[in-house]
Amino acid sequence: MATTAVDTVKLTIDGVQVTVPKGTLVIEAARQMGVMIPHFCYHPKLTPDANCRMCLVEIEKVPKLQTSCSTPVAEGMVVRTATTVVNEAHKSVLEFILANHPLDCPVCDQGGRCDLQDFSHEYTPTTSRFAETKRIFPKEYFSPVIETQMNRCVQCLRCVRYCDQVMDVNALAPSGRGTMTEIKHFGAHPLDCEFCGGCVQICPVGAITSRLSMYEFRPWMLKRADTICTYCGDGCQITLQTKGNDLIEVMSAHGAGRNNGDLCARGFFGYHVSTHEDRLTHPLIRRDGKLIQATWEDALEYVAERAMQLKLAHGGQAFAGLIASRCTNEDLYVFQKFMRLAIGTNKLDSSARYGHINGVRALRRVQGTHRWTVTFEDIVDAGALLLVGTNITEANPITGLKVKEAVKKNGASLITVEALLPAVGTISNIANLSAHHFGAHPDRFQAVVLGLIKAVVEEGLVAQPLTQRAPAYVKAVGDAVKAVAWPAIEQAGGTTSAALKEAARDFAKASRAIILVGQGVLRQPGGSGLMTTLLDLLLLTGHHGLAGCGVAPLAEENNDQGAIEMGAVAEYLPGPADLGDQAARRRIAQQWKEEVPQTPGRTLLEMLDEARTGTVKAMFVVGENPAASLPPSSKAKEALEKLDLLVCQELFLTETAALAHVVLPACSYAEKDGTFTNTEGHVQPVRHAIEPLGESRPDWEILSALSVLMGAPIEYGAAKEITNEIRSLLPDHGLLGPAPKPSRPDDAVLTRYLQQGYAEDLGERYRLGGSKFEPARRSASAREGEVRGSGQGNEFTLVSQQSLFHSGKYSTRAKGLLQIQSIGALAVNPADAGRLGLADGSRVRISNQLGEMTTTVKLQDRIPEGLAVFPEHFDQDLRRLVSVTADPQTGVPYYKTARVKVERA
Ligand code: SF4
Repeated sequence: MATTAVDTVKLTIDGVQVTVPKGTLVIEAARQMGVMIPHFCYHPKLTPDANCRMCLVEIEKVPKLQTSCSTPVAEGMVVRTATTVVNEAHKSVLEFILANHPLDCPVCDQGGRCDLQDFSHEYTPTTSRFAETKRIFPKEYFSPVIETQMNRCVQCLRCVRYCDQVMDVNALAPSGRGTMTEIKHFGAHPLDCEFCGGCVQICPVGAITSRLSMYEFRPWMLKRADTICTYCGDGCQITLQTKGNDLIEVMSAHGAGRNNGDLCARGFFGYHVSTHEDRLTHPLIRRDGKLIQATWEDALEYVAERAMQLKLAHGGQAFAGLIASRCTNEDLYVFQKFMRLAIGTNKLDSSARYGHINGVRALRRVQGTHRWTVTFEDIVDAGALLLVGTNITEANPITGLKVKEAVKKNGASLITVEALLPAVGTISNIANLSAHHFGAHPDRFQAVVLGLIKAVVEEGLVAQPLTQRAPAYVKAVGDAVKAVAWPAIEQAGGTTSAALKEAARDFAKASRAIILVGQGVLRQPGGSGLMTTLLDLLLLTGHHGLAGCGVAPLAEENNDQGAIEMGAVAEYLPGPADLGDQAARRRIAQQWKEEVPQTPGRTLLEMLDEARTGTVKAMFVVGENPAASLPPSSKAKEALEKLDLLVCQELFLTETAALAHVVLPACSYAEKDGTFTNTEGHVQPVRHAIEPLGESRPDWEILSALSVLMGAPIEYGAAKEITNEIRSLLPDHGLLGPAPKPSRPDDAVLTRYLQQGYAEDLGERYRLGGSKFEPARRSASAREGEVRGSGQGNEFTLVSQQSLFHSGKYSTRAKGLLQIQSIGALAVNPADAGRLGLADGSRVRISNQLGEMTTTVKLQDRIPEGLAVFPEHFDQDLRRLVSVTADPQTGVPYYKTARVKVERA
């Protein structure tokens, strides 16, 4: 918004006139003109506390010095930040602090980047009037990953306030009085919180530090590289700090990246995967049944020769390729180009198939975009937010912070449809902030969404312009929801029509509304249909197409969005453009100087089926691990074992790599350059921080070398050259910058949807429990028990889902994250546990017709009765209990839910 005269204030700071927005604090106004007023307790993210008194300034006509961190600017104000009086005041504050500070700078990890050191240096309080003995706090064990040294604390309370105001975790509190105040956590046990690392980052001295890097460095030894975290689709900017080729620590600066300096545990403590001792450092070739170390030359020649033989004998259609969405855009782009040009097939897919494709395909179907129409900033500014199946704190923690900010700071109305109950725990709970919470099991989300739409229709909340534009669509949807009776919705959704109507009214009346859709929808049966239905909700309430409004699918993997945009999926070319899009094919052929194969693509499960039946004889697998990601009932392992050639590019000898004929060691993100595209659709630079481990090479480079040996050279000298090629092909890819530019719906596509597209599956989507893919049929009594909220007998809906402390299977090699969470446990509601005679830590057997496993139980108030949740990072045994069904429209394999019996082991 343009700044008007009314909105700004003119003042003078140190003799220089400055104009700033009304309401700006003096400390910020000074910072904007390059004057840094010393401070400890102030931080732009936190409400002013003015407790340290370090930021005192002189303000003309005000008799006493004022704290610049809590004083807003005023028209004509004259501020002096460096007079003798002010400097003396700074000196006095430092004298007070230093009276108690241990001055153990030589052994403090903050030494060399400490505010207290810097201010002491600047204001030189060389003598002290205090003769008293310094305070000494007894040393306490704080946590496995965080070290506290309270003797160094300056009592600014930034850590406490960050934990409360930003994270909503409330894990820390000041204890004691006066100089004896120290920061403590609650309970006589190590700290138990979200471990976001925020307290470590925000501490201005060395009172709270990371144990992972303790005593390993002095700041001047560290080299820094700004790059992007690989653990989820939020795409946080991190600064990897290195010494030699060792990763020492991670930081994220305030003001940097889409995360604005905030991180989660995975981003802050999970960086040791790249330098794990199990990393593959040499190529391996299978000889006499064993994988034997080989040279790159031998390994590449072996692959090229064998691939050429198979291609000659069976053609390109005997090949398939699979790549992880954790790779860079450059890797993904070269992979699909390699498969299409060097091999000659469209049989390729990526891990975006596990769910994100459901979101993107629904967006393309309804509004013709493949990206969000909103940004993180829009979430913060939204009037109403509807979260469906997001498990947001665990799955997309930084998007979760934006939601918290919207609610806590801006008063947004939050509606949550989550498998969660409002309950206080050690991890923040979005349901606690919700104005309208619907705690339903994941297979009941559809019932709640249909209830919201029915309420919109019956309460007369359908937007008039839509009724005029698409009367047939509005009538069809209206008729469909009218046909679903309220009692059926109430029973299935475990709620009341009154609650749904109230939520619908709040959502409809908001001037800006956003729907965030998580893995609980995208990776559950019927995910693509429910995503489309949520777009209907946005359309009906008249929010669709308005600035700051949209339906936003949340990406689980860091580059799910990029994988689809690079064309590394069965149905799309780079763009994404449909495989049959002739204009796109011509554009790509012009760039590639070769035609794109005309043959159809194959999704992950289809490729495995073809491998099982012998149609596919060779597979290139890049960073993906279908043998472990998919449950045994998918028979992925058997399919891979049948191949004549399986080539894996990997960091570790995974379950899939162990089956390969050739394993090629790949670089991690910390060793390569390129770009990732985050969940918002923002393309961000990835920069190498360390040199490749052993002989590992970037994935694109390996594929490029293979293409040369196969006589179809796809050559690049550096990742930058690939980025440039992608940009010349896809202009949207060039939007590197501080903030993404959200896409706009394509009106022609929307018109098609409103005229006829909606009707394709309307009956299916608007039929209660209409998903054909419901994982297991339940007995009537079990269903009734769940709906009433009390478990019946020992039958549970088992869900495997994301933990806050892990992501996929790589994070279980990060020593910091393993210190926070090293095993999986079955989380159940205490009421269910009580009924079954279980306590925290009880051993239980989980079983169904597919198999059984044993584990321990963890009681959690936030888990609804009848639901049992297990973290997917430790679920190798649990996978035996789940079957796989493929979405008939999108080919997404659903395997996150099962019906099981839980009993004492
Ligand atoms: Fe950010 Fe996601 Fe990484 Fe956490 S895992 S630091 S939220 S990108």
